[in-house]
Amino acid sequence: MTNDSPLNSPPKLSRSQQGEIMSDVFFWNLRTTPNAPYSKKIERLLSKSGLDSIVDEGDLVALKVHFGESGNTGYLNPVNLRPLVDFLLKAGTKPFFTDTNTLYVGDRGETVSHALVAARHGYDPNNIGAPVIIADGLKGEHEVTLPYEGKYISEAYVGGSIMESDMLVTLNHVKGHGLAGYGAAIKNIGMGCASKRGKMHIHITTGPKLVAEKCTGCKVCISECAANALKLDINNRITMIGNCTGCGRCFLSCKHDAIVIDWKTDVVEFTNRLIEYNKAILDNFKKPAIHINFLTNISPECDCHGYTDTPICPDLGIMISSDPVAIDQASLDMINDAPPIYPSKLPSGLNSGDEKFRALTPNTPKYYGLDYAEEIGLGSREYTLINI
Ligand code: SF4
Ligand code: SF4
Repeated sequence: MTNDSPLNSPPKLSRSQQGEIMSDVFFWNLRTTPNAPYSKKIERLLSKSGLDSIVDEGDLVALKVHFGESGNTGYLNPVNLRPLVDFLLKAGTKPFFTDTNTLYVGDRGETVSHALVAARHGYDPNNIGAPVIIADGLKGEHEVTLPYEGKYISEAYVGGSIMESDMLVTLNHVKGHGLAGYGAAIKNIGMGCASKRGKMHIHITTGPKLVAEKCTGCKVCISECAANALKLDINNRITMIGNCTGCGRCFLSCKHDAIVIDWKTDVVEFTNRLIEYNKAILDNFKKPAIHINFLTNISPECDCHGYTDTPICPDLGIMISSDPVAIDQASLDMINDAPPIYPSKLPSGLNSGDEKFRALTPNTPKYYGLDYAEEIGLGSREYTLINI
């Protein structure tokens, strides 16, 4: 069921027809009835996924979510996640909502502000039955280093509390993304679980970009840098002395915009690093992870933005699968099949069947790296969509 071409290419023999593996993706189209309201439908989806047979009583279950930047309104509404929490509580587990601090300086760049944003956006244990635990410590220092022999990375740096949990459930708002092309399960796992150092690692930068003329010589960043990579030059301006580990702490420490992120990135390598991070993370859990994609409020940009633009197509439904590749491919296919919404950020003239995210970010790799994900064994682009 994959849409194997960006724009309406002739059908070819699918991998499933060639005897390769297909993954199950369970789907609910958001229709409800008096006897089957939202909570019952979600419960049914979760049961279909086999989640209750994976968890054990007492498990600490990490619910990886994006709480949304201040000003954003497109992030997942926690009220809609309550049935999932109830399902997990009923199974005797201890679920918690989690995310990692951002690389850039904003309201989610350290744990105190991040937790406050989450609370303002409704992620309050009194309302949703599970606490918020930011996974990588107060300033991003609580990370776990995972060995991984990939083409692009040999280690992955990941938020400690995520890797210390017994099981990972990813809750993914499907939407556009300026660099990756789209954001869903794979983005939420690879970038979302990475520590600051991990995020910088995925972006391939070797360190921060220094804007010396803005430096006041206060030395705050120098005391933050455990690698002793920074010093002041003879003009009392910040300079790099070459042994940066890419931890990202200095961004947060400089209040004068003299240390910024170097976003200069090869998009293909960025995407493939992101995918290798997925493999490193998921391979290090004893239990299989479950991924839930919400095809609702499908905005053109990431929830890291402090605003949310008009959706580019109608709300479509909710998918659940243990295969992050299959669920992302199924989500992309369904969004492409849907009619475009205008006015929106989409260029004019698109029709049902056209690739909407590609129209917004034409420079992303042909299959958004899902072909590489399949190649390294992260999952299958072939899937069976099972309607509930
Ligand atoms: S924290 Fe900023 S202003 Fe202070 S020394 Fe470092 S770069 Fe310069
Ligand atoms: S990223 Fe980390 S190691 Fe590199 S200069 Fe900044 S604080 Fe130092």
